[in-house]
Amino acid sequence: MDTWTKVKTKKLRNIGAQLQKCMRNPCACKLKCFETVQHEDRLNLFEYFWATGCHETQWHFNLNITEIKEPKVIKVQRQRERNRTLVYYLPMKNNVGHVTKLKDSLVYSDTRDGAEIVVAPDSEILFYEIIATENLNATVLHNDISDIIYMEKSRRQRNREFSWTAYYDIDDINGFLRNMSETYSKWSEVIVGGQSYQGRSILGLRINTPGRKDSPKPVVFIESGIHAREWIAPATTTYFINELLTSSDPNITALRDQFDWRIFPSVNPDGYHYSFTVDRFWRKTVSGFGSRCFGTDPNRNWKYNWGQYSSSNNPCDNKYAGSQPFSEIETRTLSSYIKNISNLLAYISFHSSAAMLLVPYSDSTEHINNYDDLIQVGKTSLDYGYETNKEERYRGPGTAAEILYKASGGSMDWVRYTLATPLVYTYELRGNSFHWPPSRIYEQGDEVTQMILGLATEAHKLGYY
Ligand SMILES: [Zn+2]
Repeated sequence: MDTWTKVKTKKLRNIGAQLQKCMRNPCACKLKCFETVQHEDRLNLFEYFWATGCHETQWHFNLNITEIKEPKVIKVQRQRERNRTLVYYLPMKNNVGHVTKLKDSLVYSDTRDGAEIVVAPDSEILFYEIIATENLNATVLHNDISDIIYMEKSRRQRNREFSWTAYYDIDDINGFLRNMSETYSKWSEVIVGGQSYQGRSILGLRINTPGRKDSPKPVVFIESGIHAREWIAPATTTYFINELLTSSDPNITALRDQFDWRIFPSVNPDGYHYSFTVDRFWRKTVSGFGSRCFGTDPNRNWKYNWGQYSSSNNPCDNKYAGSQPFSEIETRTLSSYIKNISNLLAYISFHSSAAMLLVPYSDSTEHINNYDDLIQVGKTSLDYGYETNKEERYRGPGTAAEILYKASGGSMDWVRYTLATPLVYTYELRGNSFHWPPSRIYEQGDEVTQMILGLATEAHKLGYY
């Protein structure tokens, strides 16, 4: 048992039998459980939800029962390497002056230059004392993160028809793929890229307009939503599918006709559904669901330098790499689907929300043989995107090891290493703390469409197809 769990167990000992029963599965707790809880104990429970990563329950609890309001999201800038540890520390409410190491789930975005941290109002004074003492920079990103979560929900409940002004659960996304394949049945079909732990199929759409029979078109593979909470990735991917199939812009129809597209909006469908219904900040798969700690980071689980960097061997960790390479059915089945594609020209993966473009390898600063081409193509892609958004420039292109942090076991690196696919990219889309307003999905949808157009245009210039 780690220290954090010990502290919590001790604190929660006196909460009563009924409540203790509830807390065995905290993420499924109903608010009713807590109606009789005393104020002091409520604060303990609040912290417990925080630590166990049951954010959704925590927000309800926070807004409806406790007097804690407005949990802020604060970005802490890290100037020197030693600050890296520091940003993982936050004060505990009932022990002012005492600083306790919290779990990764609270620091829900770790970037190269800092971390985004959720801070409860009653911790703010001490939090800022630490920031001042350590001479760190802190910027408030959200004044009340629960507002954003509620906003995402109300939008999705109001919108019944599939659109790009709301976020949708996995069944609706799959429904969209089926509808499109029926409407455009001559060019497109629903494809199965693999299976999930809970028995879902990883569905995608193949778009392949008639071409010359003797020469098959190069394949472009799009993998999206491998990290469950990065909702903007599946949303822009379905937007891009819609553009390919419905746009009359000659650049887009030409883009559609040049390739055999395999597009998967959500390759972690269980995790996405879990993020949608239980824990907004869920990142992993849900394998081993029911144990205290479950799920594996599917982008640390591929069989390339598995477990080396930015990977954890603790199942409670957000970056748990799994018990072994390809321990997850999602990565195992999807990788064998990809392996069987002949003529794979480009592999594109979508994440959020660091606003950057990454090339292989994520755990090395050494440059691969066509690195210069990848950078040139990537730059054009980003230029096309910036022409559309005109607001925020992406960082890169570059290797994750150079512009983000070293990470091993990702899909992009496996594809490049195993299949020698010429054009391999990871786009980190824009946003704050994995949020992007649903009313503005189309902005990043247009941007992604242009970035892919830019990529294809420059790759053609360089003779890749
Ligand atoms: Zn991600």
